[in-house]
Amino acid sequence: MQYPEAIAQLIESYMKLPGIGSKSATRLAFYTIDMDEEDVKDFSDRLIAAKKDLHYCSICGNITDEDPCEICRDTARDQSKILVVEQPKDIMAMEKMNDYQGLYHVLHGVLSPMDGKGPEELNIAPLIKRLQKTDVNEVIIATNASPEGESTAMYLARLIKPAGIKVTRLAHGLSVGSDIEYADEMTLQRAVEGRQEM
Ligand SMILES: [Zn+2]
Repeated sequence: MQYPEAIAQLIESYMKLPGIGSKSATRLAFYTIDMDEEDVKDFSDRLIAAKKDLHYCSICGNITDEDPCEICRDTARDQSKILVVEQPKDIMAMEKMNDYQGLYHVLHGVLSPMDGKGPEELNIAPLIKRLQKTDVNEVIIATNASPEGESTAMYLARLIKPAGIKVTRLAHGLSVGSDIEYADEMTLQRAVEGRQEM
């Protein structure tokens, strides 16, 4: 026996989410069918609204519903520092720490030749352009402590240092392989305070 078309398609959609296999997708699909119609409608409206209203900040690459994003618009922030992260959610982690007052730049990934991710696939060229136009005197590289994160940091340092801009790397209170998004606030604070020149 096969599932009715509507369920089969719902399962297929859930399977497009990361970490969801066919078993979980099937469970979610049947759960959805049992949900209140109102909740299902809210859910689908929110999915569409998130896709429609959110985009990347044209300056820093953060996710935002207004362009430029709130952080880039905030003139009270320290305009002399840019902290470079892999993903928009890393900005949230840094902001929770409530200690860093500078600006950000989101790479949207790391260099990974195995996955075909070279410098052109990342938000690197806009960062270099940004550095030419502004008075930034320090770039803090906060890519994760993975091998790809490290080689991306080295690549950026080589690119930026000749312009006379100081390039620093987060201190590794963050153990190797640990992600910024999961680090607690104390650890992040120490990593930023103990940053070292590359
Ligand atoms: Zn921004």
